[in-house]
Amino acid sequence: MSDKWRNWGRNQKCSPDQFKTPNTSDEVAALVCLGVAERKKVRAVGAGHSFSPLCPTDGIMIDVGNFSSITHVNQERMQVTVGAGIRLFNLNKQLDLLGLALPNLGDIDYQTLAGAISTGTHGTGLGYHSISEAVIGLKIITGDGAVLECSTEKNQRIFRAARVSLGSLGIIIEVTLQCVSAFNLRATEQTTNIDQILELFGEAITRADHTEFFWFPHTEIGTLKINTKTLETPSYRSPYKAFLSDEIIANGGFELINRYAKIAPHRAHRILRKQLSGDRKISYVGPSYKVFCSKRRVRFVEMEYAVPLDHLLEVFGYVRKVTNQLDRPITFPIEVRVLGADDIPLSPAYGRDSGYIAVHVYRGTRLNPYFQLVENIMNEFGGRPHWGKVHTLCGRELADLYPQWDDFQSVLEELDPDGHFSTPYLDRILRTSD
Ligand SMILES: Cc1cc2nc3c(=O)[nH]c(=O)nc-3n(C[C@H](O)[C@H](O)[C@H](O)COP(=O)(O)OP(=O)(O)OC[C@H]3O[C@@H](n4cnc5c(N)ncnc54)[C@H](O)[C@@H]3O)c2cc1C
Repeated sequence: MSDKWRNWGRNQKCSPDQFKTPNTSDEVAALVCLGVAERKKVRAVGAGHSFSPLCPTDGIMIDVGNFSSITHVNQERMQVTVGAGIRLFNLNKQLDLLGLALPNLGDIDYQTLAGAISTGTHGTGLGYHSISEAVIGLKIITGDGAVLECSTEKNQRIFRAARVSLGSLGIIIEVTLQCVSAFNLRATEQTTNIDQILELFGEAITRADHTEFFWFPHTEIGTLKINTKTLETPSYRSPYKAFLSDEIIANGGFELINRYAKIAPHRAHRILRKQLSGDRKISYVGPSYKVFCSKRRVRFVEMEYAVPLDHLLEVFGYVRKVTNQLDRPITFPIEVRVLGADDIPLSPAYGRDSGYIAVHVYRGTRLNPYFQLVENIMNEFGGRPHWGKVHTLCGRELADLYPQWDDFQSVLEELDPDGHFSTPYLDRILRTSD
């Protein structure tokens, strides 16, 4: 049988028994009950932007993309209720029309809302949190086909767990979000010596709203990105094309360099270094959701870990060292972000201010030894893997990293004791203790 489903990074695929796009909650419930009756696993899928094998199933794959409308708005409280399958780019535009926005976003906006919250998708900013933190209510179809509503006021124990739940508790069909007033950001991107960036970074994360940096392996070059809330009006951006997003990560030239790197890695890296050389600084103003998110046209596979903020630069130093020692040069920059502590049991930022370090390779590249070397460092520092990205940890190791692991397990046991929504990967990370 040919593979019918594959993810964005092209490192996951499967042939589900059925792929369904229901239109109503009754149809979702009927599919869940069918799965239970026929002993087929039922798995929710979003936009397939996770690199970890969260979605692959041989059972019934359910895509709630048809649940994509805003169904209720409370302007006074800045709260909206929306179908869980809405893509973030669509959500952001609709919120903007209402004069609202999400407080923080990640690098891209192609994910579904349900998919993004289920893995704790995040951007950067010490005073900010993941998208899951903006969730104040959920409607979930559980294993018996019932509609379960949970929120900050109702079924609170389930709600706390369900905000980051890897699709393990049921099919989320509706999400209520606490938004903020629409706002503009001033973006500043400074490409310069990485050691200079490291000196600026510590102060920048406490001063600016959203700070992150990129380092280009095997070079002394980095880019510091700072986004700050502003009352200025949007500026015309095209003459000052954002260097990193538009010229490096997203462009056709970078795709060609990566293809060339497969046959001549060192020569390809020399070309990349030339492209990177020279200090530059750009600045522009735009609506928050346009500044946060950019295009990623060059496909890659990623590992990302959250470590305690106090160790972030030390961990980065080790990652920099092992990366520079690799025989085969790495073309993708390493991305470093920060996030405030939250209280969502399975959030990688649970209970601690966190620094996130992400490493990437071009799609189809063998991950070892790079990812393994990086993961070893993360394990030394109590790193928690991003659920949507590549890692090799199992349930026992993860349980040690999450103080409220047992609370999540008790909700999982209550809502899906027989694992109807599970997959082999979820069995490894959530259902085994060895
Ligand atoms: C180019 C790129 C850039 C990225 N940038 C960032 C970033 O900046 N920050 C970051 O944190 N992550 C980032 N990611 C990771 C991505 O945000 C997450 O993996 C996210 O979960 C993907 O959302 P999705 O809609 O594709 O969900 P999928 O990958 O399809 O699914 C993810 C999980 O959500 C569950 N799920 C989906 N729909 C439902 C539903 N209706 N009910 C219950 N469970 C459901 C699935 O079962 C699965 O467990 C990036 C990924 C890519 C490919």
